[in-house]
Amino acid sequence: MKLCKKCGEKKVVAEFHKNAATKDGLSSHCKPCVRAYQKARFEAKKAVVTTKKRAVARKKKDMVNPPPHYNKQSEDLAKALWYLRFANGDDPRKEAA
Ligand SMILES: [Zn+2]
Repeated sequence: MKLCKKCGEKKVVAEFHKNAATKDGLSSHCKPCVRAYQKARFEAKKAVVTTKKRAVARKKKDMVNPPPHYNKQSEDLAKALWYLRFANGDDPRKEAA
């Protein structure tokens, strides 16, 4: 039996991953604790990746649909359309923050 330093429960050796860096050759945290930790890390990272993906997608969209100053031919119409996009109050450029 071995004590898990995370949950404080005594568990059989089979419940611990191997770790050559420790004295007894076993991880100090039990398998369920390690799994929970890794899941939390994955979820945290996933959130960051999703935010970054959204930012990149928005940048691409802006390149396809550039702000009015890029359109020299019909500046007034382009400007009107640009401001119309924000008429409902939610500025897509503020979503990421
Ligand atoms: Zn544990």
